[in-house]
Amino acid sequence: MQSAGSPPVSSLKIYFRLLGYLRPFIGLFAISLVGYMIFASSQPMMAVVLKYFVDGLTAPAGVNLHEFPLIGSIQLMYGVPILLILIITWQGFGSFLGNYYLAKVSLGLIHNLRCTLFDSLLRLPNTYFDQNNSGHLISRITYNVTMVTGAATDAIKVVIREGLTVVFLFSYLLWMNWKLTLVMLAILPVINLMVRSASRRFRKQSRKIQAAMGDLTHIASETIQGYRVVRSFGGEDYESARFKHASDDNTAKQLRMVKTGATFTPALQFVTFSTMAVILFLVLFLRGDASAGDLVSYITAAGMLPKPIRQLSEVSATVQKGLAGAESIFSQLDETPEQNAGQQERLQVTGKLEVRNLNFSYPGCADKVLNDICFTAEPGQMVALVGRSGSGKSTLANLIPRFYHHTDGQILLDGMEIEQYTLRNLRRHIALVTQQVSLFNDTIANNIAYGDLAGLPREQVEQAAHAAYASEFIDRLPQAYETLVGENGVLLSGGQRQRLAIARAILKNAPLLILDEATSALDTESERHIQAALESATANRTTIVIAHRLSTIERADLILVMDQGRIVERGSHAELLARNGQYARLHAMQFSEHPTLTVEA
Ligand code: ADP
Ligand code: MG
Repeated sequence: MQSAGSPPVSSLKIYFRLLGYLRPFIGLFAISLVGYMIFASSQPMMAVVLKYFVDGLTAPAGVNLHEFPLIGSIQLMYGVPILLILIITWQGFGSFLGNYYLAKVSLGLIHNLRCTLFDSLLRLPNTYFDQNNSGHLISRITYNVTMVTGAATDAIKVVIREGLTVVFLFSYLLWMNWKLTLVMLAILPVINLMVRSASRRFRKQSRKIQAAMGDLTHIASETIQGYRVVRSFGGEDYESARFKHASDDNTAKQLRMVKTGATFTPALQFVTFSTMAVILFLVLFLRGDASAGDLVSYITAAGMLPKPIRQLSEVSATVQKGLAGAESIFSQLDETPEQNAGQQERLQVTGKLEVRNLNFSYPGCADKVLNDICFTAEPGQMVALVGRSGSGKSTLANLIPRFYHHTDGQILLDGMEIEQYTLRNLRRHIALVTQQVSLFNDTIANNIAYGDLAGLPREQVEQAAHAAYASEFIDRLPQAYETLVGENGVLLSGGQRQRLAIARAILKNAPLLILDEATSALDTESERHIQAALESATANRTTIVIAHRLSTIERADLILVMDQGRIVERGSHAELLARNGQYARLHAMQFSEHPTLTVEA
């Protein structure tokens, strides 16, 4: 977050950048502008009618014809009401054009900003999601965007409508009595000073409100997602208190902002009306030969000024809220997207994977998570990674599809450094199944044939499901492949979800298959079935498998035993057992505890 009271230059920059998003709507905007001009022009017209009315009353016979070229000849009794209705119709027409078309602009702008923001999420690197909590990302899309459009459109509306009103009224006043009117300019510096100091506070408070909104969304979404844990561990009071605290905090911050506005407005009113009082005094004092109509009209027009001036000054609150919102939106849009400098694309790869002297630490962490990793997986081979949790197995698996960027060492797919592939092409060659299965609130079939796989023939989907041992439960579902799985597959068991994920990977038919504890939620029975399926599926593809049940990797061509980011032992199952080292100990542990079962490591 930026420090409070950032220099006005940067505000301007943000504002102009924001206005850039208005470009596609320039036509609609012009229409609404015309509408507001019409609206604004109706204000001095009212003052003119008043002059006509008062002058007509005081000298019924002789309203100056040449001063009112159109209506001078009509009787006062008819003229004033007709004019009133004409003016209000004119004003209404302008108001409709202005408001409706500006709403079109602002809603369109919200839409565009939201979509841009959402699309940026699809391109941001994994580290961004590690470092930003989802509540804040969500509230940026739902809350901040609406704040921003306030600045881009509502503020412009007020500036145009009220600004023009001020200009028209002021011109009229100048025309009536320019010397007197110039006296009014004296208050400008005072207003300017007040608006500035209030703006600074508005921006600061608005940033805080946005952060508080993010906290609120965050807590709500955490509780909603984890409602089972909340209930089973009696976290209700804790969550309720936490949410209440965040909401209180939010309320207090909103209130503080309202307070700023609420003090600002009367202060401003005081300044403007004091000026009006002085003007009024001067008008009466310097009356001269002005007619009663002149005086009333002048005072009325002058009296109409404070309202638009007030609204103009209050715009600064809207603008500052919007700028604070835009600041956070642009900061997300300016994040460097996933590195995608590679140019090479291969239609087909054999799946040979070589890792040479790979070192890795997560951005911002000094500790090495991977240390001098070297191994080769020939096409069609299976390489297994075993080791205690936290030893770096998943990290290694995540580096291959470039979820994180490695700088030290090499990862070669078919002899070419993976950084040289385009991201999309690289990932097309890799099928990844992890422990956390992500399902979308869609049908079973669409969850298996997701993304690039969408549109594949149904038989292939069913074959994949069959191979993943999923057809067994899918066929028993009420609508089979057309059954909706609920948000993130809540309607399915953990094992069923994993089988869908495996089916998805099998359907992808990629030459490199990475299974990161992909069968951990399965019972031994289904796992054995899938093992058989995977055996045929893995026959002609390279597989990297991380399994916490050692029994599942016995047939691997190469087993790498990892500990604290290093490969401490390597070899086949038989070799490693013979060596009687760490692997043999892990193996003995699993089998001694449950001699008949294969159990979790
Ligand atoms: P394993 O899969 O073998 O259990 P991981 O590769 O998940 O181990 O984790 C290895 C180490 O890296 C752990 O110490 C973990 O704390 C750290 N780590 C994992 N993911 C991240 C991340 N996104 N950011 C920072 N550190 C991480
Ligand atoms: Mg892991």
